[in-house]
Amino acid sequence: MLLHWFQAEAPQGCEIAGTVGMPDQPSGLTPSIPVVGEVTVCLHAVANRRECECSGEMTTNVDYLCARCLCEIHKRLEIPFHEVLVRGTLSEAEVQADVIQVTEDEIDLDPYVRQAVYLAIPFTAVCKEDCVGLCPQCGRDRNLDPCDCQVDVLDPRLEALAALLVKNDEAE
Ligand SMILES: [Zn+2]
Ligand SMILES: [Zn+2]
Repeated sequence: MLLHWFQAEAPQGCEIAGTVGMPDQPSGLTPSIPVVGEVTVCLHAVANRRECECSGEMTTNVDYLCARCLCEIHKRLEIPFHEVLVRGTLSEAEVQADVIQVTEDEIDLDPYVRQAVYLAIPFTAVCKEDCVGLCPQCGRDRNLDPCDCQVDVLDPRLEALAALLVKNDEAE
C-alpha cells in the first residue's frame, strides 16, 4: 500500500485504502502464536512539503488457542493507525516523538501497518480473564467440568503445556 506524497498535499489530503498481508503466519493454531489474517486498512493522509500525518483504522481477524484451556478463539481486531512521516533531517523533538523519516515520494506503508498490528495483538492469549484452564492431572476442561484432582498451582503457560502432555499420554 503506497502513500503518494503529492496526493496527500492536496488541500483535503487523500484516502489510502487497501489490504495488507501478514507474512510468515503459522499454518495451524497453537496456544501462544496467533494466526493473523489479512489487514483491511483505511487511512487519511495530509501532507505539507515536509511532514505528512497519516491516520485511520485497520481491521483484521486473529485466531489462536486459549493458552489455558486450548479452546479456539476467533477475534476481530479494530486497530487505530497513526504515524507522522517527515522528509529531511529530524529535529530532536521529532526523534523523541518517533516520527518516520522518509526520503522517497512514494512510501510503502505495509511495514508500519504490520508493526501496528503486531503491537495490538493481545499478549496473554486467553479466552477469558478467569479461564481456569485444563486440569494438568486429568486433562478435563475445568471451565465446563470441574474435577477433584489435587493440583499444585502452576504458571498458566506451564499448565497448558502440562495439559498437552496429558493429552499425548492418553493418545499413546
Ligand atoms: Zn480458556
Ligand atoms: Zn482433574
